[in-house]
Amino acid sequence: MAYDFDLFVIGAGSGGVRAARFAAGFGAKVAVAESRYLGGTCVNVGCVPKKLLVYGAHVADELEQAAGYGWTLEEGHFDWGTLIANKNREIERLNGIYRNLLVNSGVTLIQGHARMTGPNEVEVEGQRYSAEHILIATGGWPQVPDIPGKELAITSNEAFYLKDLPQRVLVVGGGYIAVEFAGIFQGLGAATTLLYRGDLFLRGFDGSVRTHLKEELEKRGLDLQFNAEIQRIDKLEDGSLKATLKDGRELVADCIFYATGRRPMLDNLGLENTGVELDDKGYVRVDDQYQTTAPSILAIGDVIGRVQLTPVALAEGMAVARRLFKPEQYRPVDYQNIPTAVFSQPPIGTVGLTEEQAVEQGYEVKVFESRFRAMKLTLTDIQEKTLMKLVVDAKTDKVLGCHMVGPDAGEIIQGLGIALKAGATKQQFDETIGVHPTAAEEFVTMRTVTR
Ligand code: FAD
Ligand code: NDP
Repeated sequence: MAYDFDLFVIGAGSGGVRAARFAAGFGAKVAVAESRYLGGTCVNVGCVPKKLLVYGAHVADELEQAAGYGWTLEEGHFDWGTLIANKNREIERLNGIYRNLLVNSGVTLIQGHARMTGPNEVEVEGQRYSAEHILIATGGWPQVPDIPGKELAITSNEAFYLKDLPQRVLVVGGGYIAVEFAGIFQGLGAATTLLYRGDLFLRGFDGSVRTHLKEELEKRGLDLQFNAEIQRIDKLEDGSLKATLKDGRELVADCIFYATGRRPMLDNLGLENTGVELDDKGYVRVDDQYQTTAPSILAIGDVIGRVQLTPVALAEGMAVARRLFKPEQYRPVDYQNIPTAVFSQPPIGTVGLTEEQAVEQGYEVKVFESRFRAMKLTLTDIQEKTLMKLVVDAKTDKVLGCHMVGPDAGEIIQGLGIALKAGATKQQFDETIGVHPTAAEEFVTMRTVTR
């Protein structure tokens, strides 16, 4: 049977665009439907605008450090409206780049909400298209717990478009987004409280990293409230919001920001017409080649709920394009040792096993840990400490994990990701000549076992 397209991609986000472009490059006839914004979450309401706001907040640090280096600055003034307008302009530029990337690689771009009407058919704005393969790359959406007054809270989607910087913010959650946005709001001048339901935020990260970041954030004056959960939110007469906690305490703020995880975006997608099944957590169930339970339909990215990071969605998109249209070049995605950063202030960079994971997996572990004040701060009054940590397999000397909290952690951890992928040993770290004077050189000069 002749189809309209070889591949119909639903969602022009990180994974969808990558799969579509490469499939078209391999000679396939490809369409992409996008209902909202080109580039998806990452470009519009995720990684990119987030990082721009993080840079904005970080300027406050630079200003604070300036005096130690002899600079006298007039009192600074921050204007949220300017930052948001400039950010929006940059996002529009990127939207245009994504459009050109798709169109120039021969992909048919269809604007509108896509709904599957069968295992080989998609409907967009009343028009039906047939395709040999359909790729679900619809991403995720913020999830807010069902409490009274939840409609008064905002999520990351809205935070990027706030008209004014709120003066008092409650950030709820203890994952990537909560920690990053707490740093943004606080760095830009809002009195910020982070509420997390457990004992210590960033569950799943290395224990030393979690504790170290907690201490550094507290030094910066961020109000961290653990074992705290909001029971209800009410609007007060003056327009501010009152959060009543489960323990009875009441907190008042101008903005309550929820970052309590993301659900797969499956709204009105027509799954019921296709035989696509969901897994226990509600994500699209796929096999190790991203095929769903309907043989003609594949799924990648946040909607399959494996690792919700842009570079992972890109890798999955590439794998699907190759698998379908260039099988001789197909290579499975390697989910081991994925480096990642949390752009908190200071940021976290991490790759490989945490100490806890290594112990749990039965390794005999040697830990090398170093805490120091970065050279840049020595001419200032700032007492922030950087943490670097290596988790090493005592039997084979292989480095199992590298963890850092401190300036440029994301930049530094990328290279260490290559080292871990190559299976580097501690001895090879030790034999690597440092770059002096940098903070990064500490990773190749830690000699004394801490534990
Ligand atoms: P998405 O990028 O979400 O794309 C899905 C697209 O599908 C969207 O454009 C959507 O409009 C469209 N769509 C949905 N349903 C339909 C439909 N029925 N019809 C047509 N179109 C549809 N990751 C990092 O690696 N680093 C970071 O620093 C980082 N920061 C983040 C910060 C925030 C605030 C958030 C929310 C996420 C962040 N992420 C980060 C995660 C990253 O954005 C996601 O992992 C990534 O975007 C997932 O890509 P995707 O292709 O699966 O989905
Ligand atoms: P996460 O899954 O990382 O964190 C969710 C947080 O919310 C956890 O601390 C969780 O607590 C808490 N939580 C969940 N449900 C509730 C509830 N009902 N009440 C109170 N707290 C709750 O999600 P995020 O929203 O922060 O981010 C989504 C994903 O996006 C990330 O996991 C990451 O993959 C990606 N991302 C990546 C970034 C980067 O690379 N820098 C930046 C931003 C996002 P608990 O731990 O107790 O379950």
